Amino acid sequence: MYWNEEIECIGRSDLRKLQSEKLRKMVERIYYNVPFYRKKFDEAGIKPQDVKGVEDLHRLPFTTKQDLRDNYPYSLFAVPMKEIVRVHASSGTTGKSTVVGYTKEDLEIWSEVIARTLTSAGITSKDVIQVAYGYGLFTGGLGVHYGAEKVGVTVIPISGGNTRRQIQVMQDFGTTALACTPSYALYLAEEMQEQKMRWEDNSLRVGIFGAEPWTENMRKEIEQSLSITAIDIYGLSEIIGPGVASECVCQSGLHINEDHFIPEIIDPDTLEPLEEGEKGELVFTTVTKEGLPLLRYRTRDLTSLTYERCECGRTLARMRKCLGRSDDMLIIRGVNVFPSQIEAVLLETSGTKPHYQIIVDRKHNLDTLSLLVEVEEHFLSDEIRKLESMKEKIRHAVESNLGISVNVNLVEPKTIQRSEGKAKRVIDNRNNLQS
Ligand SMILES: [Zn+2]
Repeated sequence: MYWNEEIECIGRSDLRKLQSEKLRKMVERIYYNVPFYRKKFDEAGIKPQDVKGVEDLHRLPFTTKQDLRDNYPYSLFAVPMKEIVRVHASSGTTGKSTVVGYTKEDLEIWSEVIARTLTSAGITSKDVIQVAYGYGLFTGGLGVHYGAEKVGVTVIPISGGNTRRQIQVMQDFGTTALACTPSYALYLAEEMQEQKMRWEDNSLRVGIFGAEPWTENMRKEIEQSLSITAIDIYGLSEIIGPGVASECVCQSGLHINEDHFIPEIIDPDTLEPLEEGEKGELVFTTVTKEGLPLLRYRTRDLTSLTYERCECGRTLARMRKCLGRSDDMLIIRGVNVFPSQIEAVLLETSGTKPHYQIIVDRKHNLDTLSLLVEVEEHFLSDEIRKLESMKEKIRHAVESNLGISVNVNLVEPKTIQRSEGKAKRVIDNRNNLQS
């Protein structure tokens, strides 16, 4: 099922032509409208007319999150403020937030890509979608909202939080599709179990989950506990918000909306472009956005691309599920560790719950890694010997998978704080220490 078959199943050479045409126009627009880019082009000795097509992309300068911060709030916008009809912003946990702006046409593009996303997940106008992403400056809520309305899905704009009410509404309003973070989906599942809800009491069948990296094991856990199909959706506010890419029902990589966002994979150290299939940092160039067009934006997300036609018939490039962001990566005693690697190990150990926290400390100038892991209720009533053996199993699995030693602490269910948005998995106390 396609929303826009002409684009979603376009031949690769036709797509390349279309992208090249749009890229040329975009480069011209930013050169003449954004002083930041004009300066960069001039410094690199590039003129807009030097860009003939996608093949010249690698010659152009990168844009980073720092550039957005340095130009806070509006200096990268390519149109006068009177044409900007909406702004969103990132939370700005580290330093200034980044502000993004949309024209009417940008909002139209955003709705279009979300409409494709929902349709490829099998969601139609007969569905009722509960949007439990936050509504506000965060792009999650409103982003999904307008695309869902475009498809004609019945939207419940409940926003995040108030878990009991979420469940009540889900039951009473006949929700069939859920949009939220994967960690919140698990929290909802847990609450539903607690309330002894029977599956007949709800009609949920599909979830579209994003805004944080999640593993295949986590997908299985969500699909089993909520009895739904769990679809991965990817986006970032700098590029447009949710809907940059998403899985179809084949669940084999996320289709990128390449007619709007041209992807590249680069080596994050040398900044050289990598080949199809090679893992590196994902970079996007927006070729249709008017308000805040970005050239070669470094997402920090690590993944790889494939251009093979998907079983669903779509020809758009697919990115592999993100393993993590390069700025989420922990370096513990010189070893690179992604929280998602630890999650994968934990979810393979029976008796543990998918709720955990990773605590990094520095003691006597040495990094230490500790894990808090919730275990299922019945394990706690077991003999100490069994708990010890479970602890040993996790310790061994982490050490052999990641090559670093770890202290494992098993805790009772519901000890670890639940999140209604993005889960806080890592507490890195080293940042507060003077080294
Ligand atoms: Zn597909």
